[in-house]
Amino acid sequence: MRTSLLLTLVATLSLFAPLAAQSQDAVLNLYSARHYSTDEALYANFTKSTGIRINRVDADDAGILARLKAEGAASPADVILLVDAARLYRGDVDGLFRPIKSAVLEGAIPAQYRGKATPEGTTWFGFSTRARVVLYDKIKVKREDVDTYEELADPKNKGRICIRSGSHPYNLSLFGAITEHLGEQKAEAWLKGVVSNLARDPKGGDTDQIKAVGSGECQVAVSNSYYVARLMRSSNPEDRALMEKVGVVFPNQQSWGTHLNIAGGAVAKNARNSANAVKFMEYLASAEAQNYFANGNNEWPTAKGVKVSNPALKAMGGDDFKAETIPLNTIGGNQTRVQQMLDRVGFK
Ligand code: FE
Repeated sequence: MRTSLLLTLVATLSLFAPLAAQSQDAVLNLYSARHYSTDEALYANFTKSTGIRINRVDADDAGILARLKAEGAASPADVILLVDAARLYRGDVDGLFRPIKSAVLEGAIPAQYRGKATPEGTTWFGFSTRARVVLYDKIKVKREDVDTYEELADPKNKGRICIRSGSHPYNLSLFGAITEHLGEQKAEAWLKGVVSNLARDPKGGDTDQIKAVGSGECQVAVSNSYYVARLMRSSNPEDRALMEKVGVVFPNQQSWGTHLNIAGGAVAKNARNSANAVKFMEYLASAEAQNYFANGNNEWPTAKGVKVSNPALKAMGGDDFKAETIPLNTIGGNQTRVQQMLDRVGFK
């Protein structure tokens, strides 16, 4: 009787065991802003090879950062996956991450795709890259008129450009990079030029800008590369027909290279399963995981020596292009200045 009561009690307790209270060697609590079907295989393979079960909380970048702040020291999060360098930078500055030391990660992930290096370790690591490319109407626009970011501000492109909100993290990161390359004064003049070239007020996401070129509402757009790939590979024939009209440029091939952004991960400040968290981060840098992680969203892997073959990326010229090399953490540091410039030039 006493034994069965005890067993019932144990069973009940484990049913109600919060995400946090499970043993160090069995579980990992993941807050993820990535939601792709290939990621399921990725997580399943990790569990199979380590025995560590993954509990996942899905939200977008902003939602995850807000949740971590609200939960504070009580947060059950162990690993955090975000999809933008500006947001990773923000999480780091807000003290939500725990720096980690890992020879595996430092060996695999190039320094330009990492967060701040402190004596305690590195604050985050990037696991896939995406390029911020320029799209153009193949009939109305000459490719050589839009093959640099600088030209987006040139009067020759007046009334042509569609772009999402200037203060969206993807644009904050791009503009932060441009500030790094041109200096603040020229970057602000550039932003002003882009605003005066807009075909319409910024609205919608990246896919909407590409479609607006396809439908003729704009002649030039800016988008992350994976949205382009997604439309090219779409099961909807209308999407593929639309993409026939749209040219893709990896800008600045003759100068500093096309702007890259990343999806990346960090160990949570209050992680209780921190050994598992590091193990998971190291797994994400492995060739197998890199393949799933990058291909699942039509991106490129960050780990040294890992190559993926993706027909859509190849078709748009993404197998061989010059990418910028400035550290993404530096770009994050320009966010506040960029936002002030956007306000001054009236970039919504
Ligand atoms: Fe996105």
